[in-house]
Amino acid sequence: MTELNRRSLLASSAAAGATVLAGGTLSTAQAAAPPAGKQAPAVYRYKVGTHEVTVLSDGARSFPLTESYVTNAPIAEVRKALEAAYLPPDRMIHHYAPIVVNTGSKLVLIDTGSGPGAFTQTKGELGQLPQNLTAAGMQAKDIDLVVISHFHGDHVNGLLDADNKLAFPNAEVLVPAAEWKFWMDDGEMSRAPKGRMEELFKNNRRVFDALGRKVTPYDWNKELAPGLMPLATVGHSIGHTSYVLASGSDKLYIQSDVTNHPDLFARHPDWGGFFDQDPVQAVATRRKVYDMLVADKVLVQGFHYPFPGLARVEKAEAGYRVVPAAWSPTL
Ligand SMILES: [Zn+2]
Repeated sequence: MTELNRRSLLASSAAAGATVLAGGTLSTAQAAAPPAGKQAPAVYRYKVGTHEVTVLSDGARSFPLTESYVTNAPIAEVRKALEAAYLPPDRMIHHYAPIVVNTGSKLVLIDTGSGPGAFTQTKGELGQLPQNLTAAGMQAKDIDLVVISHFHGDHVNGLLDADNKLAFPNAEVLVPAAEWKFWMDDGEMSRAPKGRMEELFKNNRRVFDALGRKVTPYDWNKELAPGLMPLATVGHSIGHTSYVLASGSDKLYIQSDVTNHPDLFARHPDWGGFFDQDPVQAVATRRKVYDMLVADKVLVQGFHYPFPGLARVEKAEAGYRVVPAAWSPTL
């Protein structure tokens, strides 16, 4: 029996290559097949009781890691964490994945991605939700409810189409009352620090003014659709909201942005991202939510987890490990 080790593995693949060349068995038709040059549609479906959940990627973007990305850890530590997860140590990758819940009576979209402006600006890396919605066999006009978790651009900008009209023309738009109150308050806006916060205030006015401010603010702990309960998970933003989707004995925790990339912020829950509005509260919320996810062994859907973002959470060292759920070919 041949012993399988690294040397024999490399040697055998080299030999296989040589055989093909010497034998000339590779048909020209196969060799000439043009590469697709783009990713296949990113759609994943699963059931929670009688609810059908469809995860639709809005894309992913990588950008250089900077000192200020994690606000309370040296960049060397952040690089180490990325390397430990087999990720490039000098770049950050952000993933984005809204979901559609079919409750049987309503089609509910939770968060909207970055919208058509971002699609153009990033040459298609972001703003992929509309094309993935089509790939999933759904149409924007069929969405009954759009539920927003918080007022950051990657969650609200997709409310508008390329003509700055409502991208989901028949949908009622539900927003967390606490987010609505904060971001639409002129006093809060006048006190906002220059830079990112000021830009966020302006962006929210751009989006919601285009909708004629026609939204329905919602309170936490009151069902939004059958089995869909919004929960306060503040810190990342002042009214940041997660959800429990329940049906029969099945339960899914939709964490929204309690953590961004799990290899950084679940493994190191005390790290703060520059995007956390109240970093101390964000850490407290993260630990509380993740301890609950571990204790209940509940499935979690993460907006910024690598696609499709369905996982379970376990304790690991000083933090948590997010373990992707196994892919299923059937519902
Ligand atoms: Zn986000």
